[in-house]
Amino acid sequence: MSAVLSLGADNRAALRRLADALGLPRLEPGWVWLAGAGPGDPGLASLHTLHAIAEADVILIDALVNKALLRLARPDAQIVDSGKRGGKPSHSQAAISRQLVSYARKGLRVLRLKGGDPFVFGRGAEEALALVRAGVPFRIVPGVTAGIGGLAYAGIPVTHRDTNQAVTFVTGSGANGGAPDLDWDSIAKGSPTIVLYMARKHAGDIAAKLIAAGRDGNEPVAIVSNASLGEQATIVTRLAALGDAALLADAPAILVIGENVRLAAGLDWLGALSGRLLDPDPLGRECMSDAC
Ligand code: SAH
Repeated sequence: MSAVLSLGADNRAALRRLADALGLPRLEPGWVWLAGAGPGDPGLASLHTLHAIAEADVILIDALVNKALLRLARPDAQIVDSGKRGGKPSHSQAAISRQLVSYARKGLRVLRLKGGDPFVFGRGAEEALALVRAGVPFRIVPGVTAGIGGLAYAGIPVTHRDTNQAVTFVTGSGANGGAPDLDWDSIAKGSPTIVLYMARKHAGDIAAKLIAAGRDGNEPVAIVSNASLGEQATIVTRLAALGDAALLADAPAILVIGENVRLAAGLDWLGALSGRLLDPDPLGRECMSDAC
């Protein structure tokens, strides 16, 4: 795969000037940067990430990285697609780690680009530890994670003092292919808001476990597909219907369970751009002043 429709050397030079002006580090030969690309909107990629795309000799990308970002790559950069789909490794994790080490040892500038944040359900830490073992210098560039920034694009704040003063991030795919083996009773009781990654398949099972542990089946839930991309779509329903709704939703999807979902009626700023009327009192508090 090669980068098509390159945005040109002048744009890469501009990125370098900007990074230099701010005193930011350069991706040096023999180094690996493990960087987050954000959930989809290229504008959510950090300057570190954009700069590294423009400088890299080789870029290894995950399935969920927005390919539009690769237009910033040098035309001669090698683009390696190391994506996994449906949880099935198309390239084993060990093979990817070996590739990173071998490119770096050739003296190349290596960028490992991952969707969202590399340290959030992204196996970035495993790859970084392989670099540590091999003595390869590396930098971690955090990214906007789907479970925070993706929800924000649907107008759902991940915390709000009136709805949830805590949040738990959970993977919906356990090691053995089913729902993960977690203490669902404690999560149900201890976490007012639960954000689920990779959970479309097991959402029904997870919802049933939470309801069995005392969560109200009428609690609001949202499923946000393709967050921050043109095809973004949100389904708002209730916990008891989460499983069926999740199966209908497009992938990738982030799921959120909790009263903070109600805030979308007031904060769906993206919907407002296409005409949705925002409710200034989505929690029904009838108090609109800053004093309450
Ligand atoms: N490291 C990534 C998560 C990788 S796990 C991050 O920090 O966001 C992959 C899961 O992330 C998907 O199954 C989905 O649950 C979520 N996800 C990633 N991009 C998404 C998007 N644009 N919209 C909705 N969910 C997304």
